[in-house]
Amino acid sequence: MSDVSMEKLVSLAKRRGFIYPGSEIYGGLAGTWDYGHYGSLLAYNIKDLWWKHFVEERDDNFAMTTPTLMSEAVWQASGHLDGFADPLIECNKCKHRFRGDQLEDKKKCPDCGGKLGEEKAFNLMLPVQLGSVEGKSNTAYLRGELAQGMFVNFKNTLDTLRPKLPFGLAQIGRAYRNEISPRDFLFRVREFDLMEFEYFVKEADWEKYFEMWKKEMWKWIERVGIKKNMVSELEVPEKDRAHYSKRTVDFEFDYPFGTKELYGLAYRTDYDLKKHAKASGLDLTYSDEEGNKFIPHVVEPTFGHGRTILAVMLSAYNEDKERVWLSFKPEVAPIKVAVFPLLRNKPELVEKADEIYKSVKSYIPNTLWDDNGNVGKRYRRQDEIGTPLCITIDFETLEDKAVTVRDRDSMAQQRVKLDELENYLKKKLNG
Ligand code: ATP
Repeated sequence: MSDVSMEKLVSLAKRRGFIYPGSEIYGGLAGTWDYGHYGSLLAYNIKDLWWKHFVEERDDNFAMTTPTLMSEAVWQASGHLDGFADPLIECNKCKHRFRGDQLEDKKKCPDCGGKLGEEKAFNLMLPVQLGSVEGKSNTAYLRGELAQGMFVNFKNTLDTLRPKLPFGLAQIGRAYRNEISPRDFLFRVREFDLMEFEYFVKEADWEKYFEMWKKEMWKWIERVGIKKNMVSELEVPEKDRAHYSKRTVDFEFDYPFGTKELYGLAYRTDYDLKKHAKASGLDLTYSDEEGNKFIPHVVEPTFGHGRTILAVMLSAYNEDKERVWLSFKPEVAPIKVAVFPLLRNKPELVEKADEIYKSVKSYIPNTLWDDNGNVGKRYRRQDEIGTPLCITIDFETLEDKAVTVRDRDSMAQQRVKLDELENYLKKKLNG
């Protein structure tokens, strides 16, 4: 389990401008969170890194972007309108709602002690009415997963890119689920980003690629800065698997509120493409070089973006008597370098510091200027937002053409000549 409590993390996230409760000035909206400046930078950096890792640095994954609104027919065919549900139990007395699979006692309400009602299946898809006021409206759905966007474009992809198996279609984007009880900060929300891909393979090869992606997921976990010793694999038993999956391995993380799902890896078979072929009447077969026609099978690694942010922040959180610091990997840190003039009321110092700041910012874009409070306070602030390096310009800089560079994790300070600064910083940040 993680040493840091959720209270501490949520309060740091708010205090330092990472994440705030959604619609907060009107009392909040359960299951939504707003990302401030540093939270947004962290969130973008994680998406960029994922995209680099799973798409740009590979030859076998292609990019997709599809709308969050999709036709009812898609979800009818995919089985989500029938099968994408959680067990719901409502208290007869206080009317609070719970997920049946998360209750220890399914008879007594944990909130008021009242009698609980019967368990029912509660669909997680969010319907929306489209159309003009006078005319007929159509029901569409906010997507509950990205995968269907890839399946309904399988034929377009074959016709245009002519890819050879195995290949994947990758996407990052919003998903919506009408969760019965959103909770635990970013862990269970009603609107979140997913990063996922559908990897199309020959049926005989699915186990090979399942194993391959399992290994690749571990590499990602390490690269993004999630502590590997806080992650474990869980073979999901048949009764708990999604309706489309023949095998699922969950990657679980040790959150302060328990060991729970971070990512999933599912073998979706040819379930989705077959369903869409039948419902749409289109030919969704693939022809290989020998002229065999068949519907490919699918291995799907899926990564919740919010849960990644949560696991990255929990992994990076450190605290001692003097300070709190987030030891983000430089690639995901919201700010890479902060530049301070030792004093803000000495024009010659500020001028030199400004010149150095502009120069550093030209080769390290996420560089920040900070001249608020004394240097000690600035270090604490940068530590709490996880800035790897701080540069201080002092009176000696004007004489010796060198600056002090301070390392976030070790707090070690080193004097670096200005003409060596670019190399020094890049080396430190790129490992
Ligand atoms: P859970 O069992 O926790 O409800 P799930 O098995 O329904 O999750 P998947 O359908 O596999 O989850 O969703 C893919 C990924 O999306 C998950 O691995 C997780 O990272 C993320 N995710 C799912 N539901 C939520 C949610 N309500 N809030 C935030 N992230 C979520």
